[in-house]
Amino acid sequence: MSAAPHVAVIGGGVAGASVAYALGRAGAHVTLVDAGQHAASRVPSALLNPVRGQSGKVDPQAVAGLRRTWAWVGALRAAGHTVPCGRGGVLRPVPDGRTREKFARNLPPGAELPHTWLAPADSPVPLAPGWAHALWLPEGGWLDGAAFTAALRRASGARVVRARATDWSARQVTLEGGAPLEADAVVWCGGAVGSGWAGEEGTYRAGSLLLLDRASSPVALSFGAYAAPAASGGVLGATFEAPTPAWAPPRLPLGSLGWLLDRGLALTPGLRGAQVTGRWSGTRLSELRCGRGEDGVWRLAGLGSKGFLLGPLLAQGLAGEVLAHVTHRPPAPGALPVA
Ligand SMILES: Cc1cc2nc3c(=O)[nH]c(=O)nc-3n(C[C@H](O)[C@H](O)[C@H](O)COP(=O)(O)OP(=O)(O)OC[C@H]3O[C@@H](n4cnc5c(N)ncnc54)[C@H](O)[C@@H]3O)c2cc1C
Repeated sequence: MSAAPHVAVIGGGVAGASVAYALGRAGAHVTLVDAGQHAASRVPSALLNPVRGQSGKVDPQAVAGLRRTWAWVGALRAAGHTVPCGRGGVLRPVPDGRTREKFARNLPPGAELPHTWLAPADSPVPLAPGWAHALWLPEGGWLDGAAFTAALRRASGARVVRARATDWSARQVTLEGGAPLEADAVVWCGGAVGSGWAGEEGTYRAGSLLLLDRASSPVALSFGAYAAPAASGGVLGATFEAPTPAWAPPRLPLGSLGWLLDRGLALTPGLRGAQVTGRWSGTRLSELRCGRGEDGVWRLAGLGSKGFLLGPLLAQGLAGEVLAHVTHRPPAPGALPVA
């Protein structure tokens, strides 16, 4: 193939926008088909937190993913895009010595992931009473999910088609209304909502962020729920609803609101006195799909609660595989520009 390959990407959340960005930088023509509805990537403030949940698990790609995302944020900002973010670290308070030991066992050896254990009294953020220790991760932080995703889409140079795709195969996408779109390869990045529209069973988990008039913590703080600064004010949030096998529009039941406020107050006294100015709800999809399916369609989906931690890194790798496949060249490490 001599002309630049043309790749159709379905879905314009952080997965699709990252694939489009990596492909665009490698010289491909990209058409991004995005319904623009229910994107989990519009989360107002997402943590870049390599030490996960209440287990303290660290994904083998977490450190590389963290650095990839920050590198892309830096490249986008240097190119004039606005991406509100804070690279001031993430603090993980833990309730007892057993949890600290569990977290410590999961941390990668050596200096791969810089971290420090602090006594609550030495925390850079006032913690509510009851925490035994706090793990400080100076390379973590938060970013504005909607702004990062929009900047990737713009910087990718992709032609954006605002429509829902109703069918797709290895080299064709059918748009609602029946119009076909031909391409050398098709990448599906429809996220939770797209998987739901396609009638796929999965593990869907909804959650909500309360938007606050001010940040209750100057740095991101997380255990059970998270409190973080945002582009304007701050947020308190989590993906905490019971998992469901099918997608449904996310809601915030009153009982969940109470749970979230309790978790927030158990994290930091900084929440007291903050005003709730709004809320945002979304759904994430678990069980990572990254690669080429038997139908010949490429997929990047099921990023769970690590969309911003791993999405750009996985997208970069997938874009390299797609291009190697359509140009019949072996995947060449370094063939794609590294930010
Ligand atoms: C409350 C909450 C808090 C979260 N916090 C964090 C966090 O702190 N850190 C973190 O890393 N991650 C976090 N996540 C997870 C993160 O938001 C997701 O992993 C990520 O946004 C998923 O991105 P995606 O591109 O796969 O899907 P989405 O962002 O959902 O994008 C899918 C897009 O594809 C479009 N689409 C779907 N089907 C079609 C179709 N057939 N045709 C055309 N378009 C289609 C949709 O309309 C949508 O625009 C959180 C999620 C939630 C819900």
